[in-house]
Amino acid sequence: MTHAYDDTNIFAKILRGEIPNDTVLDTEHSLAFRDITPKAAVHVLVIPKGAYVTYDHFAREASDAQIADFTRAIAEVCRREGLEEGGYRLISNVGEAGLQEVPHMHVHILGGQSLGPLLAE
Ligand code: 5GP
Repeated sequence: MTHAYDDTNIFAKILRGEIPNDTVLDTEHSLAFRDITPKAAVHVLVIPKGAYVTYDHFAREASDAQIADFTRAIAEVCRREGLEEGGYRLISNVGEAGLQEVPHMHVHILGGQSLGPLLAE
């Protein structure tokens, strides 16, 4: 997959402060904010601040510091949202098969309720 980053995507605009967001956590390399169309009682998106299109792009090209920050940001959001005990689900949609809508790498955190099967049937 090619990873040409398009900085007109909606998450790039959020990172530049051009459109508002409901921030849950803001770290040196990552931003977490509530999904505008929540699919569960808790639905938070975590994005790296760097210009990465997909999970594989991020894993390949981000620095160790960016990857550590991102990984810990996800766990910190789960802790703050009270999801650790009841459980939660992490999803990263990638590309065409994954139906990725926004071409800026992100992980969905879903929880706060029973989430049902992994895929729609
Ligand atoms: P994807 O399908 O790319 O994995 O998910 C993109 C997510 O971004 C969707 O769940 C969608 O609701 C969310 N989203 C799209 N536009 C905005 C926005 O402007 N603000 C926020 N907070 N979420 C958005």
